[in-house]
Amino acid sequence: MAAIETDYLVIGTGGSAMAFVDTLLTEDPQARIVMVDRHDRPGGQWNDAYSFVRLHQPAAWYGVASLELSDWQRETTGFNAGMWNLASGTEVLAHFEHVMKQFLATGRVQWLPKCEWLGAEGGTHRIRSLLAGDERRVAVRRKLVNATLARVEVPSTHPPRYEVMPGVRCVPLNALPAIQRPFANYTVVGSGKTGMDACIWLLENGVPHERIRWIMPRDPWMVDRANLQPGPEGWRRNFEFSMVQFDAICEARDLPDLFRRLEAGGALMRVDPAVEPATFRCAVVSRGELAQLRRIGEAGGIVRLGRVTRIEPARIVFERGELPADADTLYVDCSASAIQALPGVPVFDGGTINLQPVRFCQPLLSASVIGWVEANIADADEQNAMCLPVRGPDRPIDFLHMWRETLTNAAHWRQHRAFSAWMQSCRLNPQAVILRGVEITPEVKKKLSEIAERAAQAGGRAAELLATLAAA
Ligand SMILES: Cc1cc2nc3c(=O)[nH]c(=O)nc-3n(C[C@H](O)[C@H](O)[C@H](O)COP(=O)(O)OP(=O)(O)OC[C@H]3O[C@@H](n4cnc5c(N)ncnc54)[C@H](O)[C@@H]3O)c2cc1C
Repeated sequence: MAAIETDYLVIGTGGSAMAFVDTLLTEDPQARIVMVDRHDRPGGQWNDAYSFVRLHQPAAWYGVASLELSDWQRETTGFNAGMWNLASGTEVLAHFEHVMKQFLATGRVQWLPKCEWLGAEGGTHRIRSLLAGDERRVAVRRKLVNATLARVEVPSTHPPRYEVMPGVRCVPLNALPAIQRPFANYTVVGSGKTGMDACIWLLENGVPHERIRWIMPRDPWMVDRANLQPGPEGWRRNFEFSMVQFDAICEARDLPDLFRRLEAGGALMRVDPAVEPATFRCAVVSRGELAQLRRIGEAGGIVRLGRVTRIEPARIVFERGELPADADTLYVDCSASAIQALPGVPVFDGGTINLQPVRFCQPLLSASVIGWVEANIADADEQNAMCLPVRGPDRPIDFLHMWRETLTNAAHWRQHRAFSAWMQSCRLNPQAVILRGVEITPEVKKKLSEIAERAAQAGGRAAELLATLAAA
C-alpha cells in the first residue's frame, strides 16, 4: 500500500493534540494533517476517566480555541452552588467529538483511530491498526507532532503499586458508581485530585464522613475555585488572585514564607492548617468541597503514614506504620499519578514538535499557542524562545519554577504584536476570558497594567529566590 502523505503527523487525539490542530488549521490554511490514536474517540485520557469526573478548571477556557465548551450556566445545587457549571467528562468528550467532525469536514485532516504509532523507519512513519493488525506508512513533509508527552495516568489504566491480599475488595474509582451494596467503611487511597473527587462523590451520595478513611501520603496545596470565576462577578477576585501570587513571590523570604503569604491572601488552601503540605499539583476545589473534606479529618478519617505498601483483610501496612482495618471495607484506588515529569526536550526540536505546557497549568492553551507559533514564526530559535516548557507541578517549589518559566514566556509574547493580539482574543486564554461581559473601564485598565508590572517583577524575583534556595 502506498504511503499516506501529509504535512503533519500528530500522535494522539487527546486535548493537547486537538487544541494544537484546531489552531494550526485556522492559522495555516494550507496545512494537511494526519492524526493517530490508540483510542477510538478523541479526548485522550478523558476516555479512561471515571463517569463522575468533571473539569476542575472552568470550561470557559478549556477545549479548543474555535469552539465554546462552557454552557455558561451556574451550579444550582451541591458544594459548588453559585459557581459556573463544572463540565462533565461526557461534555468534554462530546466537545472533542464535535471538533473532530469539524476537522474531518475541512477535508484537510485524516484520522486513524485505534491505531498505534510505532516509530519512524527509512524516512516514513509506521502506524499499526490495533484491530486489524496491518501496518501503514505515513510520509511527513513538514513535522511529526508528539502529543503523548503528558503520559496521564488514571486509576482505570494504572493498577495500584501496593499489594492487595486475597479477601480485600479494592477497585479503581471508576467502579464506584456500579457498587450495589453498602460497605461498613470506604477507604480512599490517594490525596490527589482523583482522591478528592472520590471522597466528595461518596459524601454527595450519602456516605457519612465517619465511614470514610482518606489515605493521604502527601498533603496538597489547592487553588480556591472562587478565584477562577470569569465574568462581571468574578474578575475582581481573579485579579486579586494574580496580585496575591505576584506579591507573594516578590516579597517572600523563603519557601515557607511564600506559602504563608499565598494562603493568607486566599490564593491557596490546605486540608489541615496544622499540617504543612508536601505537594502542589494545581488541584482546584471550592471552599464548600474543602469544608466537606475537612470533616473527614475531624472525624479522625485522614491517615498520614506515607504510601500504602500492602492491604490485608484486617490491616493496612504503610511506609511509616500500620493500622487495623474493618474486613467489610471497600478500598477505592486513586493512587495513579495524573501528572508526569517533562522529558527535557525542546518544544521545537528539528522535525519534531513536542507538545508541552508553556503556561502555568494550562495544557490546552499551551498546545494552541504552539500551533500559532508553528504557523506564524519560521525561525526555530524564536519559536523556542516563545515556548520554553513549563514543568508540571509536583513539589511546592515547582510553584516558583512554573511561574518563572511562564513569566519568561510571557515576556517574549509581549514583544510580538501579532501574537499578543491573537492571545487577547483566544478563548483558551484565562486572562482574556476572565473579562467576558466586563466593561473595560479605566479602573480595569489600571488594574491590568498593575498586574503586568508586578508580574514582570515576580518573574525576576522567582529566579532569584530559586537561586537562593538552590544555594542553601
Ligand atoms: C481527573 C482529571 C481532571 C483534569 N482536569 C483538568 C482541568 O480542569 N483543566 C485542565 O486544563 N486539565 C485538566 N486535567 C489535565 C488533563 O490531563 C489535560 O487537560 C489533558 O486532558 C491532557 O491531554 P493530552 O492530550 O496532553 O494527553 P492524553 O489525554 O493523555 O492524550 C494522549 C493520547 O495519545 C495517545 N497515544 C499515546 N501514545 C500513542 C502511540 N504510540 N500511538 C498512538 N496514540 C498514542 C493516547 O492514546 C492518548 O489518547 C485533568 C486530568 C485529570 C486526570
